[in-house]
Amino acid sequence: MKHLHKPRLDVKTFKEGILSGDRSVLGQAITLIESNLNSDKVLATGLLEKILPHTGNALRIGITGAPGVGKSTFIESFGKIIIGHGKKLAVLTIDPSSLATKGSILGDKTRMEELSKNSMAYIRPSASYNALGGVAFKTREAMLLCEAAGYEVVIIETVGVGQSEVSVKGMVDFFLLLMLAGAGDDLQGIKKGITEMADALIITKADGENIKHATAAQATYQHAFHLLSKTESEWQPVVLTSSATTGAGMVDVWKMILKYQHETKSSGFFQRNRALQNIIWFREFFMQLLNADIHKFQSLQKFQKELEGSVANQTVSAETAARELLSAYHQSIKGIKS
Ligand code: GDP
Repeated sequence: MKHLHKPRLDVKTFKEGILSGDRSVLGQAITLIESNLNSDKVLATGLLEKILPHTGNALRIGITGAPGVGKSTFIESFGKIIIGHGKKLAVLTIDPSSLATKGSILGDKTRMEELSKNSMAYIRPSASYNALGGVAFKTREAMLLCEAAGYEVVIIETVGVGQSEVSVKGMVDFFLLLMLAGAGDDLQGIKKGITEMADALIITKADGENIKHATAAQATYQHAFHLLSKTESEWQPVVLTSSATTGAGMVDVWKMILKYQHETKSSGFFQRNRALQNIIWFREFFMQLLNADIHKFQSLQKFQKELEGSVANQTVSAETAARELLSAYHQSIKGIKS
């Protein structure tokens, strides 16, 4: 791990570098928050605390879709539209495949080549972390760092093959699902849950011969969306077509997202959603800390294993086991205090 050899900056230098938009410092800060070293975690927490007042100003967009649907090509093309409107863009990717295999569905090829050369864009591919929950935490923190560094739009890209899209939905303002025409007739093959999470569905590769299929699919999906009840945002999900090859439809996607932003800010949903996301974030963080705290006691770990054995063979109910573990935890804490 190369970064281990590089001395860390101090919080003040990190903060100043990030706030002045220094990409190298931003990159080092993201590496810092991704680190599992305890000393790095302390530094990262201090840094996040300091930059917090400078976060929250970006429009946060989640993009998901099956491998090969054209996500990275879409972001390359769509990103240029965003930059063309004078907005600085950060792209963060979560690749769940890297968790288990350290391999990558997103591929080792240089993705978003043009965008990555543009000084208005900052692309950060996913590192492989050891837990999906961890990825979500770290991606969210990376997003906050990008916001503090002045990026006005943050795209979080994930492959729609696991739980990662649920995590992404919980950290963005707008969630885009990319699909291919004909990939699932009459919504077959799409996970219903993902469709219900989407604020918009984009039929990709709508060029050449594929245009007519894409347009037909658009009508089918739009009809299906109308059958779904409206969500709390009062936003009726939109279905659009796009081609990264010709650039067709990209401006419409951007206009739609701005319309969403305008409408939900006017209704107050945008702010409410962010506040709720923060609260959920806090609760999840607390549960994580609690879990880590429990694991500090070796005797509890052993007890937990025993309980798991009893729960597995149904000699103890899950609820009773949980209560026993909790009371053993309380005892352990008391033991430290006295
Ligand atoms: P990802 O795995 O979802 O990120 O998909 P990629 O962006 O890597 O694209 C998968 C393949 O589809 C590549 O060979 C692209 O060249 C191709 N592709 C992506 N977008 C388009 C498009 O708009 N039109 C056409 N015809 N091909 C595309």
